[in-house]
Amino acid sequence: MTTILTNEPLELCADVLVIGGGPAGTWAAWSAASRGASVVLADKGFCGSSGATAPSGTGVWVIPPGGDARAEAKAKREALGGYLADHDWMDRVLDRTWRNMDLIESWGYPFPHDGGATVRRGLQGPEYMRLMRNVVAKAGVKILDQSPALELLVDGNGTVAGARGIRRQEERPWTVRAGAVVIATGGCAFLSKALGTNTNTGDGLLFAAEAGGEFSGMEFSSQFAVSTAYGSVTKTAHYSWAVFTNEAGEDLEAVKDGHYSASTIGRALLNGPVYAQLSKAKERPEVQAFLRYAQPNFFLPLDRNGIDPFKQRFPITLTLEGTVRGTGGIRLTDGRCASTVPGLFAAGDAATRELICGGFTGGGSHNAAWAMSSGSWAGEGAADYAIGLGAYAHARDVTGAGGAGLRAPSDARTRFDPDAVIAGVQDEMFPLQKNLFRTEHGLRGAIGNLDGLWQSVGGRAIATESARDVQRAREAAALVATARWAYASALERRETRGMHRRADHPQIDPAQHHYQHSGGLDRVWVRAG
Ligand SMILES: Cc1cc2nc3c(=O)[nH]c(=O)nc-3n(C[C@H](O)[C@H](O)[C@H](O)COP(=O)(O)OP(=O)(O)OC[C@H]3O[C@@H](n4cnc5c(N)ncnc54)[C@H](O)[C@@H]3O)c2cc1C
Repeated sequence: MTTILTNEPLELCADVLVIGGGPAGTWAAWSAASRGASVVLADKGFCGSSGATAPSGTGVWVIPPGGDARAEAKAKREALGGYLADHDWMDRVLDRTWRNMDLIESWGYPFPHDGGATVRRGLQGPEYMRLMRNVVAKAGVKILDQSPALELLVDGNGTVAGARGIRRQEERPWTVRAGAVVIATGGCAFLSKALGTNTNTGDGLLFAAEAGGEFSGMEFSSQFAVSTAYGSVTKTAHYSWAVFTNEAGEDLEAVKDGHYSASTIGRALLNGPVYAQLSKAKERPEVQAFLRYAQPNFFLPLDRNGIDPFKQRFPITLTLEGTVRGTGGIRLTDGRCASTVPGLFAAGDAATRELICGGFTGGGSHNAAWAMSSGSWAGEGAADYAIGLGAYAHARDVTGAGGAGLRAPSDARTRFDPDAVIAGVQDEMFPLQKNLFRTEHGLRGAIGNLDGLWQSVGGRAIATESARDVQRAREAAALVATARWAYASALERRETRGMHRRADHPQIDPAQHHYQHSGGLDRVWVRAG
């Protein structure tokens, strides 16, 4: 173990530890506390302003009960998702989201009014997450900010029994002994800088795998979103008002039914610059005003560059959001969001969202609904499980399950440079030719390179001068591991389904209408689920 981790730790005991304080984590913490559990919530950043929801407005999949509206809502994305979504799970999420939105309203969220009724189609991230932090704190949850988890603790049977991490501002480790742990660390956007995602480095996936957990749908990790070429704001709803053009000014006809096609834009980007202009709102000042009100941060990079997006075209690019608006994640085994590892639960983007999205992005509505629903179930499930253990929960002998980047022989030759590893992962994940338009040849090459990177982090630690170093080392390990599960799964799915596009298998194949599970660290495995 390295120096910083031997400083005197903060030691806590709780029934439930929640790792991650975005919507999934806060709903899990509140739900567990409401079940009578003592709860600690640890976030890498600041619970209330970290993660993908906090910075911006979020559409929510909230459909009133009764009539045909829910059947229509479920049908809408089924084909896009490659028919992998599960109707029972969709029904559960729609029910739970409806109830949770009632709670949010009762807690004082300022929903707009249309006449007398409140309009509950979306939530403004900053207000929503500030509210959730207050609600969680009021419920008695102990919040550890700036406290990234580094590894899970397991008992002699391999059951998860807490976690260990670091208090960044105090340069001091923390340990929480817990009866159950909820992983709610979000997805993995590979440090692309997509809005709100730079704490989403796949840490929770690495922790789960180190404890023996499995994943599902990791091939659905190729979510690329439009941003300006000089900014990383990937809020994209406004592009339904856009016309995308090439250098010559020709319309790429990339927008259909209000959605842009990433593959159309991606193909054009491989041939030269692509531009967007919100031309469809050019003569609509009332729409322009609404767009600015609804999503102010969309305009920030444009305003800073003196661009009027309604009158001028601006260069755009595609930025990787990976599994954040992709759908792969920790495999769940039941309706309480339990994982395959006893004592470990998962929620939000850290868990697979195939159950309600299939292989299509859950952005725009489904993911927000999933985060609050799965968070609630995971929190309740973890509370019941932990309370059921009684005093035994904290009497167990435990050890740290973490490996890559954290533990190694003291031999200096085993140390590595996390930033070089991260750059190496990005070289495999960012190029459109490799990740958006996948081929067997390209995937095999990338997997070879990623395996090489894993060799350089697996079983190695970092020279730890600071909390930042040790956090960075674990992030590097998590990024390599997540990339390997994503590409190994992509190689096995020899078809095009949902967001997973195989240039060498451009059609959907009815024989592959199944989930794919994956896992493993030194040896990555994939099998039909
Ligand atoms: C630009 C953009 C726009 C989007 N718009 C929509 C939309 O309109 N509708 C919709 O449904 N979805 C949308 N999404 C997706 C939505 O934001 C996510 O699905 C949602 O935030 C998931 O919630 P979460 O709690 O699982 O993860 P997050 O909100 O990402 O929170 C994860 C938390 O875990 C913390 N964390 C990470 N690692 C650690 C660690 N090692 N230790 C402790 N804490 C850790 C992070 O700091 C973070 O606070 C959008 C995503 C993006 C990127």
